[in-house]
Amino acid sequence: MNLLSSAALLLALALLPVSATAAVTEEKTQSLMQELQEPCRSEDWRVLLVNQWNPLPEDFAVTLKKLPGGLSVDERAYEDLTSMLEDCKKAGLQPVVCSAYRDVATQKRLHKNKIARLRAAGYSQKAAEEEAVRWVAAPGTSEHHTGLAVDLVAAAYPYLNQRQETTPEQVWLMEHCWEYGFVLRYPSDKSELTGVGYEPWHYRYVGRETALAMREKGLCLEEWITLEKMEDLMEPAEQQEETADAVSS
Ligand SMILES: [Zn+2]
Repeated sequence: MNLLSSAALLLALALLPVSATAAVTEEKTQSLMQELQEPCRSEDWRVLLVNQWNPLPEDFAVTLKKLPGGLSVDERAYEDLTSMLEDCKKAGLQPVVCSAYRDVATQKRLHKNKIARLRAAGYSQKAAEEEAVRWVAAPGTSEHHTGLAVDLVAAAYPYLNQRQETTPEQVWLMEHCWEYGFVLRYPSDKSELTGVGYEPWHYRYVGRETALAMREKGLCLEEWITLEKMEDLMEPAEQQEETADAVSS
């Protein structure tokens, strides 16, 4: 199975500077494709990719810190998260953290329940399994395992459905989350790339610098990581070209 969709690769190609894309031959594209299929393991903990193609690393460990409501997050995201929530409250709103860090056992239960509900609604076992992962990640592939993801809802409308996007809390959060290092992880126009349906409540910590860059370029995490990876892979070729230019001029 592809670890990154080819759609993500094509988008990343389109985003690279023209000088870089000029150097991409068909042969090179193929080798890039291959390299990109390797698991995405960034050195930077803030951009750890966990999705249906990239399960949580086996050696993953996190130090949690408890939020006032009792749920926990990675202690390194704690301060930015609480600042965001406090500022949202200062704006007269009432955001509520309804989900944060989740262990694999809890995910197993949620996933099983979702399949059972779909089966009850008339889905075949296979169709229920396929549909379920669009809404409840399979155990080991939920971003909530990282401690870097939170589901935030409006106190007056605590439902995980599309109408959540119209609450003043989500309007504020979507506008300001990047200032605190968070991104809306599963936007409506990126489902093909993220493998997850639109979730106008699920925010992911990526750090302030990356959140800002992702927002400016309109990228989801899969695209951001693909782009970063491509830039790294292409660097040697670019350097060679620069050297050649320097010699000829
Ligand atoms: Zn979530």
